[in-house]
Order: sequence, then C-alpha cells, then structure tokens
Amino acid sequence: MDGLERYSRQILFQKIGEAGQRRLLNSRVAIVGAGALGTVIANHLVRAGVGYIRLIDRDVVERSNLQRQMLFDEVDAQLQLPKAIAAQNRLKKINSSVTVDAVVADVNLDNAEIYLTDVDSIVDGTDNFMIRYLINDVAIKFDIPWVHGAAVSSRGMFAVFKPGHTPCYRCLFPQVPQGTGETCDTVGVLSPLTDIIGSFQALETMKLLVGLPAETTQNLEQIEIWDLSFLQMDMSQGKNPHCPACVHRQFDFLERSSEQQIVFTTLCGRNTVQVNPRRKHELDLKKAAEKLRRSGRVSGNEFLLRFSPEQDISIVVFRDARVLIHGINDVVKAKSLYAKYIGG
Ligand SMILES: [Zn+2]
Repeated sequence: MDGLERYSRQILFQKIGEAGQRRLLNSRVAIVGAGALGTVIANHLVRAGVGYIRLIDRDVVERSNLQRQMLFDEVDAQLQLPKAIAAQNRLKKINSSVTVDAVVADVNLDNAEIYLTDVDSIVDGTDNFMIRYLINDVAIKFDIPWVHGAAVSSRGMFAVFKPGHTPCYRCLFPQVPQGTGETCDTVGVLSPLTDIIGSFQALETMKLLVGLPAETTQNLEQIEIWDLSFLQMDMSQGKNPHCPACVHRQFDFLERSSEQQIVFTTLCGRNTVQVNPRRKHELDLKKAAEKLRRSGRVSGNEFLLRFSPEQDISIVVFRDARVLIHGINDVVKAKSLYAKYIGG
C-alpha cells in the first residue's frame, strides 16, 4: 500500500477499499464557498485523500464566523485573510499530499465555466440561491454531478443531483425565491447543523467519486436538529417534463446577455453590497492603499485592503478589483461610494 497507510481505516471499509482509495486520490472536486458548509466539506475530503480540491470563496474571515467555520481561528480573523486562503493554509497542514487550490473570487456567470467544469464533482457550500441555479446549469451543460446543501437556524437539507439520473435542482425548485428570506445573518445557525449537513455532503461526494452511483441518495433529505426530526422526500418522480434546464438545455443562469460592466449585488441579510467589475484586471494594492489613505484608515494584507471612509462603513478591495462594502444595503449609496473611492 505505497503511501496509502494514512488512509488505512478508510481502505478497511470494504465499499471503498484500495481501489476506491485510488479513485479518490485521482479525483478532482470544486467546492463553492468556504464558509460553514465548505470548511466541513473540505476538511473531510482533504483527510479522505481527494487528490485535487478547488476551494472558491469571495469573503474574508470574521470573528462571527469562528462559532461554526471549522478551519479558521482568531489569528485568521485578525489578519483579515480571505477564507479560501485561510482554509488552504490549514488544509495543507492536515494533508500535504493532496492539492488544495484556493481561489478568492465570486463564482458568477463569467467564471463558472472556468472554475467548475474540469472536475468530477461540484459541492455547494454557498448560502445563495442564484449560485445554486448557476451550478445547476453548469452541471447539466457539462454532465457533472453536484451535491447540494443548505443550513439555516436548526434546519438543513442536502441532495445529490446527477444529470441524466435524477431530476435537477430547477425541476424541484422552478422559481428563484424572491425577497431576502431567512438567512444565517437574520435567524442564526447552529454549528452542529452545518457540521452534520457538510459531513453528509462530503460523504455523498465520496460515494460519487468511488463510483458507486447506485448508492448515492435519491432523496432530498431534510433535518431539523433542535426538535430532532428527519424527512426524506423521494426525488425520483420529481422530474419536470418541461424543465428549461435539464429537458430543454436552456441555461438561463449562464446567459451572458447583460451589458452591464459592473455588477452591484446586495448580499442578502448581510448588510453588504458586492461590486464586481465584469472586465477582470489585477489591482496594484499598494498604489490603491496610498490613494485611499488620504481619505481614511487603511489596513489589509497581500490579498486585500480594508478601508473605512465613514463610521460603520468598511470597504474591502480584493486584488481582482472586486469590492465588498460592509455596513449598507443600498445599491445607490454603494454606487456613489464605489465611484468616489475606487473609481472606474
Ligand atoms: Zn430539471
């Protein structure tokens, strides 16, 4: 078992065995989001020996993440590290023999086909409906199975979507939910819940990777952990014969019809607006810091700058020119702050 000793307890489990372990080592997975679910998923898959993991996240570690985001500590929050980078640092110490590729970016229609298509499986660690529909489109278009998970308050769910074998996410949820809904930032979330859902997602991903598709769940599994109840919804009859995505292969969420060059998005329940220029360019953070220092206090690291032009507002500028404006929900105000301090 050349170099496989570290996986011995997993190899002893017969449904994985040495053949399954070699499959894991040769597998590639993209995890979208390195928050509460993403850190749990990445932790398991890296320890299990998945050979290549691309971990994509758009955010920065904050103290309020530490209650549940298992790969981070107080130093990561103090250093204001991007979550993808902080997670990568920790994961390399856990298993240096696999590749963890950290990507500090917002997954959107401009880059989804770059980040999500050269992998065997995609895992959803997001808290965002739009990205799930986008993942669903990419998964169907490129025939890649994906594992959905969601957790808020004490309720969570997960499901495996396998193009050609199961209904798709859009079959089950034909309408993008409107309004803000409940999020971790409005009704909270329990750490055991995200640990449980993320663990199930990691497990279902491992089943897909070792090539036991018949054993992956065919259910949408729902769990309420405070009152302890489980609900299984059989998905097998859930295919919508008119589904635009998996039946008509019409990928609305990958449609590049928008002419907008800069996309402003309110991050729901977060009191944050993201500003994302569609034409990517690398920012010189040193030069940007010099300019911003004239109007307020600037801190940061090699990945980002944090700048506070007014009380209760902080602007985080990433190297790819993407900006998070914390402390506001108002896109109009975000536009004026962006124009004033960051510019075109
Ligand atoms: Zn469908």
